[in-house]
Amino acid sequence: MAKIPYKIYLSEEEMPKYWYNMKAVMKELPAPFLNPATYKPCTAEELNQVFCSELVEQELNSSDRYIEIPEEIRNFYKMFRPSPLVRAYCLEKMLDTPAEIYYKFEGTNTSGSHKLNSAAAQVYYAKKQGLTNLTTETGAGQWGTALAMACAYYQIALTVYMVKVSAEQKPYRKAVIETYGGRVIPSPSDTTEIGRKILRENPNTGGSLGCAISEAIEVAMKTENSRYVLGSVLDHVLLHQSIIGQETKTACEKYEIQPDMIIGCAGGGSNFGGLIAPFMADKIEGKNKIEIIAVEPASCPSLTRGKFAYDFGDTGKTTPLMKMYTLGSGFIPSPNHAGGLRYHGMSPIISKLYQDGYLEARAVEQTKVFEAAIAFARCEGTLPAPESAHALKVAMDEAIKCKETGEKKTILFGLTGTGYFDLSAYMSYNNGSMTDYIPTDEDLEKGFATLPQVK
Ligand SMILES: *Cc1c(COP(=O)(O)O)cnc(C)c1O
Repeated sequence: MAKIPYKIYLSEEEMPKYWYNMKAVMKELPAPFLNPATYKPCTAEELNQVFCSELVEQELNSSDRYIEIPEEIRNFYKMFRPSPLVRAYCLEKMLDTPAEIYYKFEGTNTSGSHKLNSAAAQVYYAKKQGLTNLTTETGAGQWGTALAMACAYYQIALTVYMVKVSAEQKPYRKAVIETYGGRVIPSPSDTTEIGRKILRENPNTGGSLGCAISEAIEVAMKTENSRYVLGSVLDHVLLHQSIIGQETKTACEKYEIQPDMIIGCAGGGSNFGGLIAPFMADKIEGKNKIEIIAVEPASCPSLTRGKFAYDFGDTGKTTPLMKMYTLGSGFIPSPNHAGGLRYHGMSPIISKLYQDGYLEARAVEQTKVFEAAIAFARCEGTLPAPESAHALKVAMDEAIKCKETGEKKTILFGLTGTGYFDLSAYMSYNNGSMTDYIPTDEDLEKGFATLPQVK
């Protein structure tokens, strides 16, 4: 076998034509969504009022392992995919580890992250359904940017509710969304009933993803020919993100790379679910023993300290109830947390796999994450998004363990995005003003107290 190149690029022809639906392989499925008024499972009809109908179909599909990627979406993907699988030779050398380290880099498109994989698909289905308007929320801004790019391409109007602290900390994100034609409204805002209510109760709030979701859903429901789209958490988003795992698996097979460990960062769980999809399916079927690790911030520890319970997806308590690991929809993470991954809940698929023991979770503190990010940038050249650096941090820890034990493991992690838009966070690390915040059990109890009492 020839030496593995620094960057493995698949050709357009090798790009996977199918998404991978892990639910078709899972021994037990995630619990169904519940209607919060009746506690009965949501019907497709109910979901169709909020979401595009083909996305609802995908959401409820637990029988087809492979779902074909329509040619139009594949053509969009070709503008920025396949993404490289990189052998981190320089990082290995810097760490002086016997481990082989690989990362799948999703930060090469203008929006700067993997989010475009699902945006490209979701807007395509919206267009096909004849919709003219979409609404969404964005936290750190990557999803809003990705969606603005897709909406520009398919010519659909977009309104983005952007978490207020992010809109203030990241003016360039707002600028790029507007450049692609999206309208940005800092959330909470006075443009919705729920936004006005939240502002009355808590006028100084910096906002949260949950709150921005409530606003975006309210506007979608009130606007003709409009639907709400979500950039993470839901099963259909993980499905679209499985293009990451499919490409990774194809590249691994081509170069006979056999990962012992796959590591991803987890906010709502979409890039992680997408990266692991085909590998996890093989693991469930007993074909591999890969260690699979989700990494989250210690400041928003849904998997490692949350409860596995039915909860709302948003602060305004308007979404269907989802069974997931959650800190409670009322949990608002500390505003000094700069590293993204601030969502209170977690993908129901990832939650179920975690509950059933198929994956591990770890929580890491943000100053450690930035320390790893900077070490990586200096030796590998690529500036990682803070979110991605959570996975990087654990990959580096594991590679250092290999040095101590002499084990020659193959470690693969997802580098979900570029850090170009996060320079204010890097600035705060560089000038020493970044702090760590770990919620106390009491803080968490306040969030748990907002969990609905499902009978
Ligand atoms: C949004 C985002 C994440 C977290 O979202 P997931 O749904 O958990 O993947 C991670 N990394 C980057 C760069 C992001 O933009």
